[in-house]
Amino acid sequence: MSVALVLRYRKANTYGHHALLGALEAEPPDTPFTVAFATSPEATASAIAEGLRTADRVLVLWSFYSPDAPALAVELATIRTLVDDDRVLHVAGGVHATAEPQQVLDAGWDVAAIGEGETTLLRLVDAGDSLTGVRGLAVRDSDGVALRTGPAITRELDAFGSFSLRHHKYGPIELTRGCIYACKFCQTPFMFSARFRHRSVENVRWHVRAMVADGMKDVRFTTPTSLSYGTQTEEPDLDAVEELLGTVRAELPSHGRLFFGSFPSEIRPEHVTPEAMRMLRKYVSNDNIIIGAQSGSDRMLAASRRGHGAGPVLDAVRIAAEAGFRPNVDFLFGMPGESSADADASLTLAREVAALGGRVHAHTFMPLPGTPWRDAEPAFVAAETITTIDQLAASGALYGHWRRQAEHATQLAETAKAYPRRTPRRRTVEQ
Ligand code: SF4
Repeated sequence: MSVALVLRYRKANTYGHHALLGALEAEPPDTPFTVAFATSPEATASAIAEGLRTADRVLVLWSFYSPDAPALAVELATIRTLVDDDRVLHVAGGVHATAEPQQVLDAGWDVAAIGEGETTLLRLVDAGDSLTGVRGLAVRDSDGVALRTGPAITRELDAFGSFSLRHHKYGPIELTRGCIYACKFCQTPFMFSARFRHRSVENVRWHVRAMVADGMKDVRFTTPTSLSYGTQTEEPDLDAVEELLGTVRAELPSHGRLFFGSFPSEIRPEHVTPEAMRMLRKYVSNDNIIIGAQSGSDRMLAASRRGHGAGPVLDAVRIAAEAGFRPNVDFLFGMPGESSADADASLTLAREVAALGGRVHAHTFMPLPGTPWRDAEPAFVAAETITTIDQLAASGALYGHWRRQAEHATQLAETAKAYPRRTPRRRTVEQ
């Protein structure tokens, strides 16, 4: 028995695939397998056809966020017209498949991988046709209703690498998974649990050494909240952060660059203190930090369970600017229940951020599956608000994909209506 793995490899989803490759390299399944990277629908069909020639089974691995689901369902249908075979299994993974397994099965995928995919994939490669023996899946029952095979097995982050050494596919090192905060618009706590799981300093050192040995010189991280590294509470542990950054810096060559608290991660505003900024400046290469603010309205910040007010946002911007960082501040417009007064408060804060030399990273609220606000009605964003956002953008003080996200919000609502909710059945799987 052999398996051909075809990764539907899109720019927007490389991190998830790299984590799966890291797991395959850390604990290779017993079944021989090959890996192909398919960067277009046509390439995916070709890779599947090749896999059918060389292996007994083909697993096509998809990973996507909720806004991309409708377009990828169309792509999946196209691929099936090009090549279809009983030995091919299209597996949908990622946060959307986790939140809406019935929806992805109804949309055409054969299997939804629910939750963390690493251990699930390792077992799926060895499973043959007995899918219901693999935890972490939803498969179509005889009447089309999703049958769940029990919760996926989760491991500590150190168990698997963040990326693929064998295929030279690098990216940010996943530093922390899960989040203790409970922001109502966010999929992270739902997807990865409401606690932090941190990668150890020694394991990060291993990653950096491997990257440097392969000629890489930049290190970035993914984490829900950068200055929460090493803690299980809302209080940062700056000693833990400094140990991490000092270790990474020591492993990097002199021309190496260390990015922390900037893309693709951010820092919570109340964690931005003069002490924290002084420490970061000793180690990091980024000239900016990203601060999660979301709103200038205390009422909306409380309603969304952000766990901080608007005052600490402005304090954080000042402190970061004084420390020499350009603050990029995330805002979310159109949260459910946002009034014109709330939007005005956000715009006032946005102007204050700009006056202090910061930039506003504007987003539009999307009712994401799995979140407490999945079924909430986005607030209407008034024309005057949009005009002010455009003016800030024209002056260079604002950036972001907020217009596209507004379209995605509408699309998500339409998709939710098109696929009525059905409760998945559960099956207990003996391991
Ligand atoms: S928005 Fe950030 S802090 Fe809030 S739950 Fe999501 S990851 Fe955690």
